[in-house]
Amino acid sequence: MSDRTPHRFPQFSSPDDERTHMKQRMAAAFRLFDRLGFNEGVAGHLTGRDPEHPELFWVNPFGMSFGLIRARDLILVDHEGNVVEGDWPVNTAAFAIHSQIHAARPDVQAAAHTHSPYGRAFSTLGRTLDPITQDACAFYGDHALFDDYTGVVLDVEEGKRIAHALGSCKAAILRNHGLLTVGGTVDEAAWWFITMERTCHVQLMADAAGQPVVLDDECAALTHSQVGPAIAGWFSFQPLYDKIVADQPDLLD
Ligand SMILES: [Zn+2]
Repeated sequence: MSDRTPHRFPQFSSPDDERTHMKQRMAAAFRLFDRLGFNEGVAGHLTGRDPEHPELFWVNPFGMSFGLIRARDLILVDHEGNVVEGDWPVNTAAFAIHSQIHAARPDVQAAAHTHSPYGRAFSTLGRTLDPITQDACAFYGDHALFDDYTGVVLDVEEGKRIAHALGSCKAAILRNHGLLTVGGTVDEAAWWFITMERTCHVQLMADAAGQPVVLDDECAALTHSQVGPAIAGWFSFQPLYDKIVADQPDLLD
């Protein structure tokens, strides 16, 4: 809840505590994604690695609106794509992409992917983002282009190739598809997604208006070290979390 005390990075006394926290953060991220218009029918997923069973991950139920998801609605999926907790099915694409990212990146607790409109529009250009604003520098040298669209991702082999393209970055642009972000916490992955979508919007507007000034490498790298760290991503999510919980407290159930 929004208790109006300064935010501190959480500590947990048990895996149960951490799981509850993570699922509430995921539900909040879905409500925010809904509010920001990132949903397109049944597309999009956010996964969170289970704190006790790292080979399992929590994900949104396939076909449930982002705007209705509560913590208890999330389903738990194993490394073969079986739903081991929950009644709803899993989106095959969510399993194919996210299982391979969680496998390739032990440092990643959460991964987000939706068909948000500006990310989707920018993805058609087959290029990465320029360091043209302070916010864009969070992605400077820290996002990849997956330059190989071959249809809906239904095969873990394609998930493996996306994970390979992502490398050690915090984000990837999936050409002709949309954005993908990861983080050491749900908060971080969700924030990177929100700010990357806006960064795509800003780049599209700036490019349409003229020729934006691109920051030089030294300045972009310095700014990346200031706005790009994991803790900066985590912290930036906290006011959004407080507001969505204040507005829609049922998400915590
Ligand atoms: Zn997709």
